[in-house]
Amino acid sequence: MKTFCGRANPTTGSMEWLEEGEDYDYHQEIARSRYADMLHDKDRNVKYYQGIRAAVSRVKERGEKAIVLDIGTGTGLLSMMAASAGADFCYAIEVFKPMANAAVKIVEKNGFSDKIKVINKHSTEVTVGPDGDMQCRANILVTELFDTELIGEGALPTYEHAHKYLVQEGCEAVPHRATVYVQLVESKRMWSWKKLFPVHVEAEDGEKILVPPSEMENCPGVPSVCDIQLNQMPSSDFTTLSDVVTMFSVDFSKPVQSASTYYRVQLEPVKSGKAQIVLSWWDIDMDPSGMINCTMAPYWVKPTSALQWRDHWMQCVYFLPNEEPVLQGEKLYLTACRDEYSVWYNLQKAREGENKADGEEHKAAVRLESPVCRCRAHLLWNRPRLGELNDQNRTHQYIKSLRKVLKTDSVCLCISDGSLLPVLAHYLGAKQPSRTDLYHPHELWQAFFKANHLEDKIKIIEARPELLKPSHLEDKKISVLVGEPFFTTSLLPWHNLYFWYARTAVSTHLASNVTVLPQSASLHMMIVEFQDLWRIRSPCGICEGFDVQTMDDMIKDSLNFRESKEAEPHPLWEYPCKSLSDPQEVLTFDFTKTLPQHCLSTEGSVNLLRKGKSHGAVLWMEYHLAADISVSTGLMQMSSEKGNCEWNPHCKQAVYFFSSVIESEILSDPTAVTYAINFDTKTGEIAMDFKL
Ligand code: SAH
Repeated sequence: MKTFCGRANPTTGSMEWLEEGEDYDYHQEIARSRYADMLHDKDRNVKYYQGIRAAVSRVKERGEKAIVLDIGTGTGLLSMMAASAGADFCYAIEVFKPMANAAVKIVEKNGFSDKIKVINKHSTEVTVGPDGDMQCRANILVTELFDTELIGEGALPTYEHAHKYLVQEGCEAVPHRATVYVQLVESKRMWSWKKLFPVHVEAEDGEKILVPPSEMENCPGVPSVCDIQLNQMPSSDFTTLSDVVTMFSVDFSKPVQSASTYYRVQLEPVKSGKAQIVLSWWDIDMDPSGMINCTMAPYWVKPTSALQWRDHWMQCVYFLPNEEPVLQGEKLYLTACRDEYSVWYNLQKAREGENKADGEEHKAAVRLESPVCRCRAHLLWNRPRLGELNDQNRTHQYIKSLRKVLKTDSVCLCISDGSLLPVLAHYLGAKQPSRTDLYHPHELWQAFFKANHLEDKIKIIEARPELLKPSHLEDKKISVLVGEPFFTTSLLPWHNLYFWYARTAVSTHLASNVTVLPQSASLHMMIVEFQDLWRIRSPCGICEGFDVQTMDDMIKDSLNFRESKEAEPHPLWEYPCKSLSDPQEVLTFDFTKTLPQHCLSTEGSVNLLRKGKSHGAVLWMEYHLAADISVSTGLMQMSSEKGNCEWNPHCKQAVYFFSSVIESEILSDPTAVTYAINFDTKTGEIAMDFKL
């Protein structure tokens, strides 16, 4: 089997695919996996254990042997729970080889080898019979195959197959049932992830308003789920327009159908407003009575939800195809359509005198096909990026800076993906701004320019910076080089330093007195204590009485693989943390000069000023656009008293988890953390090391 691993090269801004051989070790997948987070999810584990005990008892009460099928066993946890609860035998299926191997070790270490058979197969490949993987069909079906959208990891086809071939009719299932809930909301913040709002520019000759092309207005967007930590969304950022409504449920103890279908509910808005967003989450009942319930309900529905933090299951944000004004008390139909792996929503108004049964006949009006972006804008601008482009404060900083540097005869070149800077530059006076993007959705830009009467005003250069020729620029020298900088392939904050590589590549085209905007960038760093995020990389040890240290060791080995512990990207607005040190500028990058040949390194120490656990360091970039104007892709604000941080809501920051945590007390002589940080200009990567 060949494995291809994608990696963006920050020195070229493009994706590279490396083919890995048979012996590919999956270190990246294991290091960044969600297994640790699941093992730390006490609420989930406790409820699975209760549900499994109850199911085993019910089977035993019927005088049957309890034969368990655990699909997707991972560490073997649920099978070990079943065996401890008295199950006679467990078949533990796991498709991912490194995990199946780990499960064998963990099962053995916990003394269950005679009760649990680990099978390294996809469940649909499992055979039943005297010579098969399973001797007989199981009468208890245990799985945990759910993602935030419930069905995105393929739970439905897996259940469908299992009921046909692997379990007995009338089997017990843990969980017994899943239910999906929805709530209709209006939210400018979340809607800004789907639409491009008009951009207002105060130009010399009056106000200009940049509008999205009409194709974008009616585009349903992309089908991928938008999953977020909804508990971090302040209630001031949305208005609920409906009560919480049960959308659909799935009984896992009965045959399951995975074929595409739809579910429809009638609802009456509790408030008038603009219906834009459907918020959704699910719960699972571990047993038929519904007494053992594990829910993803957000804080305003279930006030204790913050106590059960988890990252492997969050909440979903669905975008309606169009914004719909709704009136309090009017009758609406909300339709959830789903295929095997994903869900999407539509809203219709009920006609006068229509009741629910009649409404069924209007299914032809429902958009049953899955959303596909036709306008291409949603392919160019993903949701956080749209949010960023819609951020008026940010745009204002760029406008202010452009105004400072542009002259009427400026020849302006923009290097950034999907940037609106060339349009802003045009409005603010540049002669004929040009742009070079790494991804060129030509039709989109044509439509965009047309909608704003900008045809022939901005030139798109379809050449990579290093291939730029004088003819592209009509033999003119660039007097203003701009970038946000932003590139779609960037994963970590410093990957946007590709701007520096590109700037270096176009050097011969720059006028001697060129202005580069941003003029420089700086890397900033701070030591933090996470409220919860630490769990995803922290060893678990014993989980519900089972020794899962083998898993901890495996993750640790993968994290330390080739001694290259790396920073990882996380959108910290979703993951609260407290600063334990002051933010510190650690490296600067001078875009007015070309990229140096040598590495840029720094060493130093940072004092821990507050009491707390040092889980890791957070790093981000700040761009210095022009004199006195900077934008931060990380820390926006910090309360000096408690150290609570406010992060840029559109960007991911880099998190470097320390391998061991230190606890600092308030000290008159504060503890220091020493660091060494190195930007390798050859690879575009930043390596770091910390000593506590
Ligand atoms: N049961 C474990 C792990 C759950 S994670 C626990 O609750 O802690 C889900 C696991 O299921 C992953 O390891 C994934 O590789 C595996 N998996 C998903 N679908 C599968 C299928 N159809 N057959 C076998 N393994 C599957």
